[in-house]
Amino acid sequence: PYTTLSALLAYQAACQPDAIALSDRERALTYAALDASVLEVARGLVFEGIGAEDRIGYIGRNSLAYFELLFAAARIGAVMVPVGWQLSPREVAAIVTDAGLRLMFAEADVPKSALLDPAIVRSIGVHGDPLNHWRHGGSSVPQRSDDERDVVVQIYTSGTTGEPKGVMLTHRNLLRQRFLDKQAGLPWACWKGDDASLISMPVAHISGTGWALYGLSYGAHGIIERDFNPADILAIVEKECVTRMFVVPAALDMLTQEQAARPRAIGLRCISYGGAPIGQRLLQEVRAHFACDLVQLYGLTESTGAALALWPHDHHSADPAVLRSAGVALPDVEVRVADFASGALEPHGVGEVMLRGSGVMAGYWQRQAETADAIDADGWLKTGDIGELKDDGRLIILDRRKDMIITGGENVYPGEVEAAILEHPAVRECAVVGHPDARWGEAVVAYLVLDDDATVAFDAELLQEGLRERLARYKCPKQVIVTHALPRNATGKVLRRILRDAAATAGA
Ligand code: ATP
Repeated sequence: PYTTLSALLAYQAACQPDAIALSDRERALTYAALDASVLEVARGLVFEGIGAEDRIGYIGRNSLAYFELLFAAARIGAVMVPVGWQLSPREVAAIVTDAGLRLMFAEADVPKSALLDPAIVRSIGVHGDPLNHWRHGGSSVPQRSDDERDVVVQIYTSGTTGEPKGVMLTHRNLLRQRFLDKQAGLPWACWKGDDASLISMPVAHISGTGWALYGLSYGAHGIIERDFNPADILAIVEKECVTRMFVVPAALDMLTQEQAARPRAIGLRCISYGGAPIGQRLLQEVRAHFACDLVQLYGLTESTGAALALWPHDHHSADPAVLRSAGVALPDVEVRVADFASGALEPHGVGEVMLRGSGVMAGYWQRQAETADAIDADGWLKTGDIGELKDDGRLIILDRRKDMIITGGENVYPGEVEAAILEHPAVRECAVVGHPDARWGEAVVAYLVLDDDATVAFDAELLQEGLRERLARYKCPKQVIVTHALPRNATGKVLRRILRDAAATAGA
């Protein structure tokens, strides 16, 4: 019944005006109240001189104010640029400049950056109604933006592999999911109005903003959490009767450890997880401690998140190959692999994963060459991931193309080595990277974090011995480095480039 964000809100406000749409620790707004609030904020933005296609930023933790700004921007055809609050001032300044932000709403507790132009910064509080000053009561109703192809959100890729680029996502990109679920008749996926969904991943990422909009399109109640503290998160899940959540594997690991240490009676219907590879041991632990459905999602910011899914029933498969896969394409997504040498699209086999469908971004903001490089003339998006597509449509993600190690002319996929290392009961986390090496070109090096609670002592020699039984000699790490933590970005993704750069600087 709707194709834009503001039409979605109007629809829910008409169908269920008194149902809670969103709440954070300060406030709760019903669908009717959210719709009314968004209109006032939209008027405020117009009063500030903001118009169609202008970029406005938000830097802060997850908050109800962010979503009011997002819907207000969408209403007048402006574009919301959520910026990660954990980024350094220099990184923030680079995004502000790249996006050409007209205004930047900054939560008061985010350290002010001297690099930002004070003329564009609007400081907002974190208590009460932070947008109090930005509401405009006038009677004019700003013209609704009603083209589903309009860009609504510009999310900067987190740069685990390179320069941050602004990924432009449209109404259509962001609202595709709900219709899909209906079309596919996937009973688990069809949320109910009584669902309560936890929004705990940062809104500057598709896993925060995209997930929240997904729940709203079902008329569910979105519970917004500012920070990711596993004990607090599980307390909220229990107290607020949360039924659905999306978390990245690193967050799921923390939740599982917390639930194992202090079990709570929680009524989750489904945990969706994804955004990074998950280890098999963690997956087993999750199943042991959370008696709910599990759905793995594979996707990128550029595909508006989920493109493939490993469904709940797959998690009970007796075939380990099923659990190691990222599942099958969603109904509106086509997946193929491209041959490395020729670039030709192949229906099956090993190659670069290519995606096509209604989630594929409109493009990178002001980067035509990069956009043309990422999306070909037929609409296929290059993911930068290496995958093996099986005959039955299952995709196994082997690694990111840029992470592949070439040692002595042989290709090594870090993910395969990491999976083997993680079988060691004393290893909690690991990352395998290539260090520059005069003899081999690159040498395989493993960084490990040990499990404090492990019952087995760690012995590097035994680990190496075990690996040599499982893996070809050239894949086994030349060096094993035990560290207390792996460098990760705001969504918990391992920053391999930091491990590689450290090695290069040290002249390893
Ligand atoms: P950048 O693209 O700048 O490096 P990023 O890594 O944070 O930033 P995202 O769009 O957030 O970019 O992440 C997409 C990538 O995450 C995918 O290309 C893939 O490598 C990985 N990924 C996502 N879901 C899964 C999954 N279910 N299993 C394995 N890997 C996944």
